Amino acid sequence: MQTLLDTLTRFETLAYIAAALLFILALANLSKQKTALNGNRFGMVGMGLALVAVIVVALAQSAAPVWLTVVLMVAALAIGAAFGIWKAKNVQMTEMPQLVAMLHSFVGAAAVLVGFNSFINQPGADFADPLAASENAFHMGEVGLAVFIGAVTLTGSIVAYLKLAGKISGKPLALPGRNWLNLIMIVAIVALIAWFVNTRGVDAGMVPLAIITVISLVLGLHLVMAIGGGDMPVVVSMLNSYSGWAAAMAGFTLGNDLLIITGSLVGSSGAYLSYIMCQGMNRSFVSVILGGFGEGATPAAESEAKDYGTHTETTPVEVTRLLLESKSVVITPGYGMAVAQAQYPVATLTNMLLERGIDVKFAIHPVAGRMPGHMNVLLAEARVPYDSVFEMDEVNDDFGDVDTVLVIGANDTVNPAAETEPNSPIAGMPVLRVWEAGTVVVFKRSMGNAGYAGVQNPLFFNDNTLMLLGDAKASVDAIVGELNRTAGA
Ligand code: NDP
Repeated sequence: MQTLLDTLTRFETLAYIAAALLFILALANLSKQKTALNGNRFGMVGMGLALVAVIVVALAQSAAPVWLTVVLMVAALAIGAAFGIWKAKNVQMTEMPQLVAMLHSFVGAAAVLVGFNSFINQPGADFADPLAASENAFHMGEVGLAVFIGAVTLTGSIVAYLKLAGKISGKPLALPGRNWLNLIMIVAIVALIAWFVNTRGVDAGMVPLAIITVISLVLGLHLVMAIGGGDMPVVVSMLNSYSGWAAAMAGFTLGNDLLIITGSLVGSSGAYLSYIMCQGMNRSFVSVILGGFGEGATPAAESEAKDYGTHTETTPVEVTRLLLESKSVVITPGYGMAVAQAQYPVATLTNMLLERGIDVKFAIHPVAGRMPGHMNVLLAEARVPYDSVFEMDEVNDDFGDVDTVLVIGANDTVNPAAETEPNSPIAGMPVLRVWEAGTVVVFKRSMGNAGYAGVQNPLFFNDNTLMLLGDAKASVDAIVGELNRTAGA
């Protein structure tokens, strides 16, 4: 029996090292569109391996009858897999941010439960051996931190989900002295963890642990309630980071190295993603965390009231002619392409133009859409060739050489006010300088609606801008139809 256990422990260690390497490979590959599919595969194999290792070792070590452990594990896996598969099959791309927020709340809940479980199994006690005493104190500290971060992630993610799904108002809740309130709660939690670490026995420790849980739940709720709907995607990425740290803490309490590694990978990549998003929106990370963005709409209203002149409307027939006369075309997609699901006709249009010897490139702004990589996923889904998709920095200096730019459902990300109007809410946000091209065609439904930031876009009133009003999918379909007609004529 002992030999079997030794062999299994060795298998577990090897499986964990292999899984950790696979997770690192997954992250590295996910950073590029070309290799993203492989990244997903690495991640799936790594997770499968980790699950097998956990299950095999749990079965060998289980004090309960093997059949009972098997039944419980199969039931847990079946419920989780059924929910996951159903959700993955049904979710719309536009609902992705709220799904991610909801999944983070599960990680938070798991960290809290693991923390409580670990404490009940190994509460504080008087140890004769000073090493054992300090080890136990360390363990109790980990439990306190796991419960704290897990509970903040749990309620914070639930509020983020509700805001993104439009089930509660996206307006920031501005309680008087809200930053002080947060600070007081954090100081109280630190003091309670210190108390908790010094308790002996389950009953004595349960009191501070329960208070830590309640305050942390309220803190998560309040932190995210104070953040406006506009900053919610950054908050989701930040909660992604918290959920990683919560998992890493749970890994410490369980003595599970793989959970520590995986949690740290998620924690640091989530933090880095939040940083990239803040840079793309020209918002400081601290101002996002402290919340309150989007309360005063004065600058937006001011720019709204400004008279930019008149716009010029165009038709699919005219745009088709323009495209056929162009040597180089750049397409800048935005959130509207996702709403209209126009990526498929856009891919067809791209292929038709390429076949006619016209150079077509896509220029992707880092925060186009509602989450990083949103546009890349849509274009990959429609099988647009990877080598025609470029990041903003790769093409932003070349717009002067482009004949025609098609702005498909993008607004803030191509708004020149970010560079020219210092009072604009998007002032300083890096934007695609499409107005430098020969002609710009903007696809949107009406002149009445603003972009995500709620500000008017002077691009629409430029002499070299043509507005193609209507649903983006219908407009692109009409251009494709016109191209087919000219080819047949
Ligand atoms: P915007 O949200 O600024 O604009 C979307 C445009 O699409 C609007 O002009 C809208 O006009 C148009 N549109 C909507 N539906 C359709 C349709 N069916 N057919 C045609 N047009 C349509 O989009 P961008 O992608 O340019 O900018 C993204 C914004 O989101 C930025 O402000 C960014 O800061 C913010 N954001 C992005 C995050 C990210 O990670 N990607 C994170 C947080 C915020 P109309 O309604 O008239 O059709």
